[in-house]
Amino acid sequence: MIVDVHAHLDHPDIEKRIDEVILNAKNAGVKLIVTNGINHATNVKSLLLSKKYDIIKCALGFYPQDALKKEVGSGEYPLALAEEHIDDEINFIEKHKNDIIAIGEVGLDYQNGHDKETQKDAFLKIINLAKTLDKPLIIHSRKAEEDVITMLEENHAKKVVLHCFCGKKSLVARASKNGWSFSVPTNIVRAENFQLLVKEVPLSQLLTETDAPYLSPFKEKKNEPAFIVETIKKIAEIKQMETEEVENILYMNFQRLFL
Ligand SMILES: [Zn+2]
Repeated sequence: MIVDVHAHLDHPDIEKRIDEVILNAKNAGVKLIVTNGINHATNVKSLLLSKKYDIIKCALGFYPQDALKKEVGSGEYPLALAEEHIDDEINFIEKHKNDIIAIGEVGLDYQNGHDKETQKDAFLKIINLAKTLDKPLIIHSRKAEEDVITMLEENHAKKVVLHCFCGKKSLVARASKNGWSFSVPTNIVRAENFQLLVKEVPLSQLLTETDAPYLSPFKEKKNEPAFIVETIKKIAEIKQMETEEVENILYMNFQRLFL
């Protein structure tokens, strides 16, 4: 029972071979993939994908707009961007509350975006939305880890998944003490910071993700949900447990938070 809590299946690199990606995932024992939207267009696509394929569940989100503009500009995420307002997207998410299992990808990004106030305004509204809808938040926190944690604490967010968290050790400890979860990306096979995170955080607060098509465990291949098995192997090695036991506990963690 393997779960990928954070992927971008609408991304052209995946969408063009979606049937093959899903077959690979099923053959690898993947039970569920949570595809995450980052703006209106990808939210719409994510909803459609979750309607079309049983294995796909949907999270709707709102990525920091200025950071997204930069990433799209660099060719990292091929998208046609329009000016969007957080309030419109919140209405859209509310309308689809019964079609989603989480709110994501959301958060703050001070590396690719610099308009901190606008980012924080949107994030605050999203935290409140998640509380109202009682859905977990899947959070991006690039070079903004401390602000993300502070805002979540101040607003009493409970169902929190920190995706691909790269904050320093003291922030990992702080988030962990708050009872929040960390989704561990597949590049843990070579990224020492995630190996350390897995060592520090109790297994009951870990989840698995690909962030596909990014963060592949294999340098020569684009990432896809089937590769989660590599993360589970690595977590089992670090925690000195059997992979099957780790897999079962990770699935229970997912159920507790998302279902
Ligand atoms: Zn992502």
